[in-house]
Amino acid sequence: MTFAVHGLPVARGIAIGRAVLVVSSRIDVAHYFIKPEEVETEIDRVRIARNAVAEELQKLQASVALMGPNDAPHELAALLEVHLMLLQDEVLTGGVKHWIVERLYNAEWALTTQLEVVARQFDEMEDEYLRERKADLEQVVERLLHRMKGTAAVLAPTPPRRKRTAEDDDSDPTARDAIDAPLVLIAHDLSPADMLQFKKSVFAGFVTDVGGRTSHTAIVARSMDIPAVVGARSASQLVRQDDWVIIDGDAGVVIVDPSPIILADYGFKQRQGDLERGRLARLRHKPAVTLDGQKVDLLANIEMPEDTLGAVKAGAVGVGLFRSEFLFMGREAQHLNRLPDEEEQYQAYRRAIEGMQGMPVTIRTIDVGADKPLDGRAVRDDEAHLNPALGLRAIRWSLADPAMFLTQIRAILRAAAHGEILMLIPMLAHASEIRQTLALIDFARAELDNRGVVHGKVKLGAMIEVPAAALTLKIFLKHFDFLSIGTNDLIQYTLAIDRADESVAHLYDPAHPAVLRLVAETIAECRRQGKGVSVCGEMAGDVAFTRLLLGMGLRSFSMHPSQILAVKQEVLRADTSKLQAWTQQVLEADDPAGLLAPAATPQ
Ligand code: PEP
Ligand code: MG
Repeated sequence: MTFAVHGLPVARGIAIGRAVLVVSSRIDVAHYFIKPEEVETEIDRVRIARNAVAEELQKLQASVALMGPNDAPHELAALLEVHLMLLQDEVLTGGVKHWIVERLYNAEWALTTQLEVVARQFDEMEDEYLRERKADLEQVVERLLHRMKGTAAVLAPTPPRRKRTAEDDDSDPTARDAIDAPLVLIAHDLSPADMLQFKKSVFAGFVTDVGGRTSHTAIVARSMDIPAVVGARSASQLVRQDDWVIIDGDAGVVIVDPSPIILADYGFKQRQGDLERGRLARLRHKPAVTLDGQKVDLLANIEMPEDTLGAVKAGAVGVGLFRSEFLFMGREAQHLNRLPDEEEQYQAYRRAIEGMQGMPVTIRTIDVGADKPLDGRAVRDDEAHLNPALGLRAIRWSLADPAMFLTQIRAILRAAAHGEILMLIPMLAHASEIRQTLALIDFARAELDNRGVVHGKVKLGAMIEVPAAALTLKIFLKHFDFLSIGTNDLIQYTLAIDRADESVAHLYDPAHPAVLRLVAETIAECRRQGKGVSVCGEMAGDVAFTRLLLGMGLRSFSMHPSQILAVKQEVLRADTSKLQAWTQQVLEADDPAGLLAPAATPQ
């Protein structure tokens, strides 16, 4: 039966494919594709873990048998028996094998997937006693996952889809579907680290129950340039493994089990989208200049050095934001040391410079915390009531761990010997933070001098992400060469809306008069003082705001490479001399959204 689930559109386009459910588990589980030749190893890992857990349970049974009824109630022995039965059950073991062999999931992913399939069968049982066995099954799987920790294979660099072979049964269309159909990812939540792994994968689109438009999960999805919907509430409960799903990333709708008519309709929309993309691709080599001759820099936001490939392909004239924290995340799954050392970071920044072929690269120092936790950093019980977005995040984190911060600064300074690098500091709010940061940069430079290591000059920039910073620009401009407005956080902190919380997503409003005023005044003050200014939040890549930002005087926009051509089209059609009066009107309006509608925007 066809039904639709609504969420927030975060990455445009239509995806049609089979659902792959990624289930949250109480244990942190890595999700990645294995190579076909690793199938046996993964099956073995499950078998070895199963034997070990069986032995563990049998030992427990033996010790229970030696206890008296007061120490070990009769139910305990019965429960252990149930756990042993579940452990050996063919539905669990056969299912896990299926996901490994047919879908090339790593063992942990296969286990949690099969747990979800069986758990739903338990949920549907009439008998209350049997329904309650779901908790036992979860415990058994968790025991297995614990056993498997530390035995994972190294992440496959390019997760493959299984290739069709002569043994595949072509007479069975469902078998062919399972192998060849595009896959779409459905999850309750995905950490930015998980997203990073999926970035290298084959998914045609994805959906999460939670998340806001500018949550970091959504941002990474946008950088993958695949249709995505977040904040879809109960999607991961309603969709089943292998269901056919349409993801409409323009409308924020997920259609499950679509009828042939709906499928045909969306197939048409998908082809229209491809045509539009093809048309925009012709603008790639065209310089971004407005009708009245104003040159505009369209830069790329990247998460990894390899993303520079897409940036250059999209015609970016540099990197305006390299979110360097992604080098620090998702490392457990790759069996790497917890944090990248100076040499590893230096090489990564150098790769980014080389990837940009002589164009400038803006490296933002690490911005972890809030919705970008480092591996293994579980929330402590006494922290559970705290709001991480207001806590130890970004520059606050770096200043709290000067050794880590100095390592990163040294790596950036060393890379600067190979090309034009700008160093950008996130989330500054206090003059004391500025002073400490600058002192650490001087210290790192002196350390390199003392070591006799070659390093280069960098331009220094501060992100304007907190209203306190936007209201004290003069202090910032005394110390920094340029400012970059992080509208994602500026909106979050100005409006007191958690950017990752879908329950308040309707109040997350880039067009709020307070936000627009802070953005406009930051641009104006930088221009008055002859300092560089750019916007690198999601607003820069949203064509609904291109003319307004141009009207405010912005000439440098940084966004995901996938958004550059659409914004360039807006720039090419704009005449900034005709935007001034309208921009002023928008800034003075009680409800600016109405004036931003295409019909109300000057041509
Ligand atoms: C922002 O806050 O606008 C920004 C660009 O930084 P991030 O999205 O990584 O927090
Ligand atoms: Mg930010």
